[in-house]
Amino acid sequence: MGKKTEINTLERQRSKLLQAITSIYPMIPGSYNEVNRKCGKPNCWCNSSTHGHPSKRITWKECGVSYAKVIGDNDVEWVVEATGNYRKFRSMIVSLEQLEVRLHELLQVHAAEIIAKTRKEKNFKNALLQPTHRHRLQKHHAVKLQGKL
Ligand SMILES: [Zn+2]
Repeated sequence: MGKKTEINTLERQRSKLLQAITSIYPMIPGSYNEVNRKCGKPNCWCNSSTHGHPSKRITWKECGVSYAKVIGDNDVEWVVEATGNYRKFRSMIVSLEQLEVRLHELLQVHAAEIIAKTRKEKNFKNALLQPTHRHRLQKHHAVKLQGKL
């Protein structure tokens, strides 16, 4: 039975993937970065320096709006982990979608194989609807449509 094995394999992969996706923690969208900012105070050292004050922050987008939040040294580690996890999450969702598309394709092929096998076994050949029947059906359909207009 051609595609059945491949379908079962995909189903196991899908199950593993879902397990991995739902195990991800912690997770937040965004990226960690370090920037140098001049504070703008006229008598600060940064005014005459090429560098500004170093600052650690996370930036992210929500509904097309960009956000930035300054974070402390103690938060760097988990922010890096959580933003990395979110990227992993997104990419696993893409893999899941691709797997499901393939699964649906295989189910179509599987269905065609089973239908062909069944027809062959039952000696059930394609038979065209007789033209007269077709005509009558179309007329019937047209009358029904007219009734609705
Ligand atoms: Zn300054």
